[in-house]
Amino acid sequence: MKKQWHAPQAAGAQSSRRLLLKRAFLVVLTLLLILGADALVRMHQAADGIPVLNYHQINDRDVNALTVRTDQFTAQMQYLAEQGYHTITPAELTDAWDNGTPLPDKPVIITFDDGYVDNYKNAFPILQKYNLKATIFLVSDFLGTYPNYLTWDEAAEMQQSGLIDFESHTLSHEELDKLSDEEIQHQLVDSKRALEWHLQKNIKYLAYPCGDYTQKVQDATRDAGYRAAFTVHLGYAQPSKPQYKLDRVPIFGGTSHTLQRFKLRLKYAPVFAPIEDFRLMLREHGFTWLAAHINTP
Ligand SMILES: [Zn+2]
Repeated sequence: MKKQWHAPQAAGAQSSRRLLLKRAFLVVLTLLLILGADALVRMHQAADGIPVLNYHQINDRDVNALTVRTDQFTAQMQYLAEQGYHTITPAELTDAWDNGTPLPDKPVIITFDDGYVDNYKNAFPILQKYNLKATIFLVSDFLGTYPNYLTWDEAAEMQQSGLIDFESHTLSHEELDKLSDEEIQHQLVDSKRALEWHLQKNIKYLAYPCGDYTQKVQDATRDAGYRAAFTVHLGYAQPSKPQYKLDRVPIFGGTSHTLQRFKLRLKYAPVFAPIEDFRLMLREHGFTWLAAHINTP
């Protein structure tokens, strides 16, 4: 009550300061509640989502954003095996979602895009050593055409091992969102036919070249007879999402592929996804310098 004896002006300043503090407290509390709820939603999503790892090249020759060194890849595969992860195929994933087929404990999908020859020379022996399954998305026109890509014989040998599954990454790696309807159809249907003829199996899954797709591309993919398609957007493949834009966990795009980074991405991709989305949004709007300062783990 003593405060009431202060000069009216001082009392007024004090009460407005208190009001300001109260408002700031409410704003912080609201933000914390929103962040907490968001984290809970993401944790829930992480619970029923499945990590789909996305590699390209595995070798000790190239130093670029698409290449993981063999020792790093070995450490990552050893980690999956030792931690009790079970590798599954895209078909096992969609069977579980569509038909309720049970999945093993700690399921993970290992994928490679493009079909580089080092997948056969370097990755395949390491996958065999740890008895891990993987899916390679092939660019059907590139097999046996360019020296840096697999041959049909190498693909057949990998397929016979029972560990390696092949699916489509289109006919010639064109960005599908930039093509006409006819060209999209050609890329989707004819790569499926070529792969089915050479590999004598059904081709039902697609990885979009460069991760690019639109609603039209998704519809065309479904109409061409694919069951699901994968992007390069960071996150877990979620049963709630449309099956023609399934997230993956890119193990590329940076020069650091340490085991620590791999573990972080494998376990927390859904949590890091908004940071990555924010970075991509900045880059898209021309804030390249700012985007360069945002480092998604
Ligand atoms: Zn590709």
